[in-house]
Amino acid sequence: MTTELSIEFFPPQTAEGVARLKTERAELARLHPEFFSVTYGAGGSTRERTFAIVKEIVAEGSSAAPHLSCIGSTKASIREILDEFRASGIRRTVALRGDLPSGMAEPGELRHANELVEFVRAEMGDDFQIIVAAYPEWHPQAKTPDADLVNFARKVKAGANAAITQYFYNADAYFYFLDKATRLGVDIPIIPGIMPIVGFSKLARFSDACGAEIPRWMRKQFESYGDDTASIRAFGLDVVTRLCERLLRGGAPGLHFYSMNTAALTTEIWQRLKR
Ligand code: FAD
Repeated sequence: MTTELSIEFFPPQTAEGVARLKTERAELARLHPEFFSVTYGAGGSTRERTFAIVKEIVAEGSSAAPHLSCIGSTKASIREILDEFRASGIRRTVALRGDLPSGMAEPGELRHANELVEFVRAEMGDDFQIIVAAYPEWHPQAKTPDADLVNFARKVKAGANAAITQYFYNADAYFYFLDKATRLGVDIPIIPGIMPIVGFSKLARFSDACGAEIPRWMRKQFESYGDDTASIRAFGLDVVTRLCERLLRGGAPGLHFYSMNTAALTTEIWQRLKR
């Protein structure tokens, strides 16, 4: 199978978390992902922690893609970060607007991701592969689905090379999004973001906030398991593996796993796909 795989981490807050992530990452490295990406707290709140993990990944011989969000930042600080990335041999970044952290009122000099992409291209030429976010079930703040799609196309026009989607459990939403984007002239790879399911109630809360739908049939099934974590895990693995199979059969160019810093579920799904 030649499906491209990438895997996302968030920077842990504690030394124990960093050590645990190192172990999980070693396991995931055996899947030979194209790259590991590391999230970045909007407003620069995780700048040092993100970069520390990125440097560990590079030192281990894997390719790293730090995320970079622009909301609440100055152009000078973004330039400094890009210089730091480049000097460390980083050649890929996930460029985002981010969400304004609570208490921060000033949006900064770059207000949307398309402006960040434009800025990275203007400052760094073609030194970076730029990946942007896409929303098959639409961004929660989008005025209309069509407006969101036009805004997505803006990021591509500004110089993005690829996109990773918000996670979703409804394959039709992804295929519809691809179709509409293609009709707008978008021709970059749009890679589905895959969220393995480790528990239901937390996922349900998080999904409501970020605008990802958990279909009723899945919700009902999960709810019926109550505290039976083994059944939740088994059903989650089954559903997400089937989703991945359907996406790949339908032409998805790769899969990006939101690993939540653990290796087990991503590894299990990936291995099931290879069978
Ligand atoms: P944008 O593309 O700027 O879009 C945000 C909203 O503004 C949309 O509703 C869009 O329709 C609208 N819009 C876009 N451009 C314009 C314009 N020019 N004029 C008017 N309206 C416009 N968050 C983090 O903080 N850190 C991370 O590391 C992180 N990683 C992520 C990785 C992926 C793959 C995804 C899908 C999301 C990630 N997020 C992360 C969450 C993301 O920051 C939020 O979803 C944020 O609300 C939007 O970021 P964006 O880059 O998609 O913004």
